[in-house]
Amino acid sequence: QIGSQQVDRKVDSVCPFCGVGCLITYNVKDEKIVSVDGRDGPANHGRLCVKGRFGFDYAHHPQRLTVPLIRKPGVPKDFSDAPRPGDWQDAFREASWEEALAFAAGKLKDLRDTHGNKALAGFGSAKGSNEEAYLFQKLVRTGFRSNNVDHCTRLCHASSVAALLEGVGSGAVSNQVNDVEHAELIFVIGSNPTANHPVAATWMKNAAKRGAKIVLADPRITDIGRHAWRTLQFKADTDVAMLNALIHVVIEEGLVDEAFVRDRASNFEALRENVKGYSPEAMAPICGIPAETLREVARAFATAKGAMVLWGMGISQHVHGTDNARCLIALVTVTGQIGKPGSGLHPLRGQNNVQGASDAGLIPMMFPNYQRVDEPGAHAWFENFWGVPLDEKPGYTVVEIMHKALAPDDDPHKIRGMYIMGENPAMSDPDLNHARHALGSLEHLVVQDIFMTETAWLADVVLPASAWPEKTGTVSNTDRMVQLGKRALNPPGDAKPDLWIVQQIAQRMGLPWNYEGEECGVAAVYDEMRQAMHAAISGISWERLQRESSVTYPCLSEEDPGQPTVFIDTFPTADGRVKLVPADIIPADERPDAQYPFVLITGRQLEHWHTGSMTRRATVLDALEPMATASMNQGDLDALGLQAGDVITIRSRRGEVAIHVRRDDGTPAGAVFVPFAYYEAAANLMTNAALDPMGKIPEFKYCAVQVLPGGAP
Ligand code: SF4
Repeated sequence: QIGSQQVDRKVDSVCPFCGVGCLITYNVKDEKIVSVDGRDGPANHGRLCVKGRFGFDYAHHPQRLTVPLIRKPGVPKDFSDAPRPGDWQDAFREASWEEALAFAAGKLKDLRDTHGNKALAGFGSAKGSNEEAYLFQKLVRTGFRSNNVDHCTRLCHASSVAALLEGVGSGAVSNQVNDVEHAELIFVIGSNPTANHPVAATWMKNAAKRGAKIVLADPRITDIGRHAWRTLQFKADTDVAMLNALIHVVIEEGLVDEAFVRDRASNFEALRENVKGYSPEAMAPICGIPAETLREVARAFATAKGAMVLWGMGISQHVHGTDNARCLIALVTVTGQIGKPGSGLHPLRGQNNVQGASDAGLIPMMFPNYQRVDEPGAHAWFENFWGVPLDEKPGYTVVEIMHKALAPDDDPHKIRGMYIMGENPAMSDPDLNHARHALGSLEHLVVQDIFMTETAWLADVVLPASAWPEKTGTVSNTDRMVQLGKRALNPPGDAKPDLWIVQQIAQRMGLPWNYEGEECGVAAVYDEMRQAMHAAISGISWERLQRESSVTYPCLSEEDPGQPTVFIDTFPTADGRVKLVPADIIPADERPDAQYPFVLITGRQLEHWHTGSMTRRATVLDALEPMATASMNQGDLDALGLQAGDVITIRSRRGEVAIHVRRDDGTPAGAVFVPFAYYEAAANLMTNAALDPMGKIPEFKYCAVQVLPGGAP
């Protein structure tokens, strides 16, 4: 490794992986990144995890796409005979940019003009910048003329956001991660922070060291459990039972913050009435946690000087994900643990820019800054701002779009063409056989990416884009910090910046866009987005970001340092109060039975990110975790006559994988955990596409499977 003193240049940016948003410096020599240093950013203070430190050389991987590609005639759009995507020569031919753009945009336009605006949809990406997200949703809304635009927030925290918007009036966090420093109790639920938000986990561990109590509540006990005061290994799918039991104790034992509830909450009586039937004694057999432990944790939470809740996809990825989050909102409200330092609600956002992409309007029911598309005032404002008529109905979400791609030909809402920028639904969607069939059935699929992903494999035209170190732009982290990354490299070959490609498609669909300036007009796009978001980031100018790199919002003026803790005086709801919403037990869509007796839990691991398209092409990360493994506990391995390292076949009603098994005694009895990063053992072949009715998020955390010894990985 070349020392950072010997490099040609150092370029400041942001880690491209998780939502923690660590600030970094790329060290570049001979037009290659040779190492990465952590900067003293507000979220990381110089720290980096293994992904941020070593996950950079994917940008130089020989499989980078460097020319536009058009599918050869007659090549089937499926995985029946697919090599590992990357060997694309048999399926695609090279094309010029002019030909590829004309084909990509021309056919989208034809489909829109022939079948109407409902025929098209677009997926943007939480891996792109805020500017790319903003421009992409604007293209769909004003060029496709529909609201069928979404991204992986739908697979991540959509249910959390639905509950937060309903309850506290804002989908973002109330307090920043490093505020755990001021907490006496840190309640981590449905999250594996040491793997998925590793630098955030360091703040939690430091807090534990100085005496804070960590409570880890999760069906699968992970590394942070080593630092916990109490671990609540509740039975998978019983979140509402357990959380309502905690609220029951708070109310029954007189631990309610009466003044806070009186002055700042509504609907408390309905909540009180609802949790009467959820005593710890009644819920203990359901959730598997002793009643006395539930009482002890509830008392500690209510009486702590500050108690903060941090949660992940273990809460959100259920058909009752919104209800799970409603319970968390209720817990902090009845105890008055919100609106002050060291307390509050923090849904740990997954992707590096899932917060920003959602803020920028990359969701089907909201314009930028969560202004509903069907709210007449917001609709009129954006029609005037963008100067075109807009669809007034919310569009379809990720999984709904897949269903609509397979709708009968006479369905007026059938999706026939899609533009996918930087997402990989052929790996990340639930029930992959269905999703891949849907993508392969489209009349026209345009995919813009840096590698021949599984989704690009199904495309009609593939547009080679830029990796994060090859562009300048902003991303917003889980802490509501808008952070600037600067271009360190040029894209390889004839690959282009995403912002350039989106504008080229827009122009060919008849939009008179002209964003002038360096880096494809990124500053002009940012300024327009800033106006569209009204007050939220009005104090964060492009010039200020050049100086400060990272600014927290809400930020109302150039002098405003930003507000790390919100809801101090009021909530941004219609009446300024938290709306408490009672929740009852709703079982998972697919429970284990005699035929499919195990529960499949999917998720991520430390070394690989999401569908693996970047990290599996990063040398160090791939060397650390080169192959897919499933995790089971020793008891289940023994019962099945298995040893760690054996091959098993995991089969659901929708698909199966053969995979090596490893021992992990944190995985509960009767369950198997599989990360979804590996194309050769794609976990989502087995997952269930059943949706939470409000957040429209699929149930990735629970479906029924068989586990059988043997198979061919
Ligand atoms: Fe990157 Fe997240 Fe690791 Fe920080 S914690 S270095 S943002 S992956």
